[in-house]
Amino acid sequence: MSLALTEPSHPRTGVKLVRAKDELRASLAAARAEGRSIGLVPTMGYLHEGHLSLLRAADAECDLVVMSLFVNPTQFGPGEDLDRYPRDEERDLELAAAAGADLVYAPPVDEVYPAGFSTEVAVGGLTEVLCGDPERRGPGHFRGVATVVAKLFNTVQPDVAYFGQKDAQQVAVIRRMVRDLDFPLRIEALPTVREADGLAMSSRNAYLDPDARERATALRRALGAVERSARASSLSAGLEAGRQELAAAGIEPEYLEARDPDDLTSVEVLDDRPVLVAVAARVGGARLIDNVLIEP
Ligand code: AMP
Repeated sequence: MSLALTEPSHPRTGVKLVRAKDELRASLAAARAEGRSIGLVPTMGYLHEGHLSLLRAADAECDLVVMSLFVNPTQFGPGEDLDRYPRDEERDLELAAAAGADLVYAPPVDEVYPAGFSTEVAVGGLTEVLCGDPERRGPGHFRGVATVVAKLFNTVQPDVAYFGQKDAQQVAVIRRMVRDLDFPLRIEALPTVREADGLAMSSRNAYLDPDARERATALRRALGAVERSARASSLSAGLEAGRQELAAAGIEPEYLEARDPDDLTSVEVLDDRPVLVAVAARVGGARLIDNVLIEP
């Protein structure tokens, strides 16, 4: 659906490109007043089919689709890949428009974090495990994520926000934040989109040289081995089988763990509840994550 407000600011794609939050609010005001539903897809850009699946779902369900395009500095730790994170705004605008985005909000950093910015959203507990473990990316990563997503929810005020299950911990953190802070919207988590050989699509796959790209397929194989062996014998046997699959590809994982998908507490046995098995590993120049949800 078109915004039918001002002329589209991106001539080739017809998508409206907005850099300032006041303009964003003004652009959405008429749609909101008419009761049209708004879907939000937050991204850091360098779009791939995973992002596009979220945009298409939003386009199918909502009257108006807003994609944010912002490489959020506060979710990168010191020494992480903020400076080399891949970017291609022109290509992103074309792909986003083709997948159903009506408006792309791509603010500069000081629009999101003006001088003196000093407020953070900290979701307790579930941000301190898996990627949030202080020995890994740390809880600061999720404070950055929760803070920027809360800001996006406030500026866009979507009816539905779309996230990828590939970032399962992020989904759990956002769901908890929405519940705890009473954000009036629905969270949709959509399945992980994969390359033909099973590798989860990620903007960071661009860092993989051919050898690392080949070895990276072990993450998905390991998760498959965990699920098969857990169903056949036990969860601990499954995790061991997964570790062996990774070791065969020369990969030492940061973690390969079984967790409750909602509160991320450790799970020891498969019973009648779904179990999230999540993996993170450095492969060549990239830190990759993936997961599988084992349904009972
Ligand atoms: P990013 O640009 O990496 O921050 O991702 C933006 C959104 O796309 C997040 O909700 C991600 O979980 C989601 N996403 C990233 N990769 C995939 C994928 N392979 N399949 C589905 N969703 C994804």
